Amino acid sequence: MKKDQNGKKEKRRQDTSANESETPATVSEQLRLSPVLDYPRYRVNPGQQIKLADINPDESEQYRNKDDVKDELKRQRDRIQDLQERLYAEQKQSLLVVLQAMDTGGKDGTISHVFEGVNPQGCQVWPFKVPSAEELAHDFLWRYHKKGPSRGMVTIFNRSQYEDVLVVRVKNLVPQKVWKTRYDQINEFERTLALNNTTIIKFFLHISKAEQKRRLESRLKDPTKHWKFSSNDVKERAYWDDYMAAYEDAVNKCSTAHAPWYVVPANKKWYRNLVVARTIADTLEAMNPQYPPGEEGLEHIKIPD
Ligand code: AMP
Ligand code: MG
Repeated sequence: MKKDQNGKKEKRRQDTSANESETPATVSEQLRLSPVLDYPRYRVNPGQQIKLADINPDESEQYRNKDDVKDELKRQRDRIQDLQERLYAEQKQSLLVVLQAMDTGGKDGTISHVFEGVNPQGCQVWPFKVPSAEELAHDFLWRYHKKGPSRGMVTIFNRSQYEDVLVVRVKNLVPQKVWKTRYDQINEFERTLALNNTTIIKFFLHISKAEQKRRLESRLKDPTKHWKFSSNDVKERAYWDDYMAAYEDAVNKCSTAHAPWYVVPANKKWYRNLVVARTIADTLEAMNPQYPPGEEGLEHIKIPD
């Protein structure tokens, strides 16, 4: 028995390491065997209909400040580093982390704080911006599928396929009858990845409108943050309620057993980092990556002078 972060005993699931030789007989069985993830506090369960207004972006459990979480965050980062190394060595499965948030929501900060110290060779970050002409000439999932993780990798999507039911919906970039079909397409896409040994977790970093105002103002005041300021963010802010409705739909329609959404209280950056780090560490642990066995007969090998 191993202990979880609360010191409680938990039985390590042995049946979750996906690889071809162990592929279960049916699709539903394989999906059932997807890692069961810990830190369920912020997970949106399949079929659950959350309201963002009911989730307090200021929440931080018992923690009061950055210092309170310092040691715990380090512990979670160490777990991620260790498990990521195993995943990379194993070369059988991969992890896709999707990060979505309103402007200033903290996607970049989350990446730099949570993945600090991870071996860059086994980790990729792909930001998705306004699609190019070539990307727009393909099906909307094309550019995301191309950047999905290969075996052994942890891949982070900084924005993702969800932009095509968020900004695209809010700004009417395609007709409603087009974006309406995309939730199902996204679920199918993620299911395909899951069936091919990719574990997917999705985070919505939930900040309040007042917190966004503070962050935009602080970007304006600090010349070293001017590069982060975009007057477009101010324009998008006017659509806040429409974005909240679009996020609610995305989260409620697309939180599945194989690709759950987590709505993370993100007004306090240090708490957000802790929740994301702990959820990623728990997810990697449930994937149970193993160092592959060495060659036969290593004990007889002598390295010549
Ligand atoms: P940033 O992440 O702040 O550098 O901004 C990237 C911008 O690209 C944001 O305004 C997004 O809304 C926009 N964007 C990302 N994906 C899409 C998409 N599929 N269609 C339209 N705009 C997008
Ligand atoms: Mg921006």
